[in-house]
Amino acid sequence: MQVLLIEDDERIAGPLAEGLGRYGFTVERARTGAAALAAPEPEMVLLDLGLPDMDGIDVCRALRQRSNVPIIMITARGEEIDRVLGLELGADDYLAKPFGVRELVARIRAVTRRTRPPVMVQPARAPGTGHAPPSDAAQHIGPLTLDRRTRQVHLAGRAVALAPKEFDLLAYLAQDPGAVCSRQQIVDQVWDPHFFGPTKTLDVHVAALRRKLGDPAWIETIRRVGFRLHVPDGTTPTADSVPGHDETPG
Ligand code: CA
Repeated sequence: MQVLLIEDDERIAGPLAEGLGRYGFTVERARTGAAALAAPEPEMVLLDLGLPDMDGIDVCRALRQRSNVPIIMITARGEEIDRVLGLELGADDYLAKPFGVRELVARIRAVTRRTRPPVMVQPARAPGTGHAPPSDAAQHIGPLTLDRRTRQVHLAGRAVALAPKEFDLLAYLAQDPGAVCSRQQIVDQVWDPHFFGPTKTLDVHVAALRRKLGDPAWIETIRRVGFRLHVPDGTTPTADSVPGHDETPG
């Protein structure tokens, strides 16, 4: 697993990188927030909150806006407010200094298990990929990650189990987030190019997707035209369900 260790203090980062290496992790290091944000996306982020150029909280926010890579905050600051703020901004866990490498490894494993839970619907996937980590081809749309290769969808790090047609519909809308797709386009591409008649099944699938994504705003209805996918304003990954105004089919 590739870990990005964001820590300016060599006395901490050096032994930590070495220790993680012994456990089989590949550790990239960044000493500043700017360097961290410029680094290639790792599979796990260890983030110190006290950085020389910017607040680690802002690094957390910036990372979370573009990806759902697991983030564990590491800090000397023990204040509750930092922990709460960090977790609200999308960090997955928190570890206060001092801590041992073994404890950190245990947290990394726990976070990995949590953020990559077993999927309920297991579509065909490449052989030998037991956990199917998000591939390079995975598309990130706000907190939503869509992997066409493995047909897996994650929202804020949690797997979303979709039926095959629900996945196809989401993947189609995600080809151009924000763009309006007409009902006929969607039906042609996702169902059958020779489909005629009422597109009720489309509404049923849109309603299901909205439910599973936890916020109907993910898929906006454009009246008399179709639908478009976009990141809801003020997305709260923990929102369970939003009272839906799903279109009643038929
Ligand atoms: Ca520091």
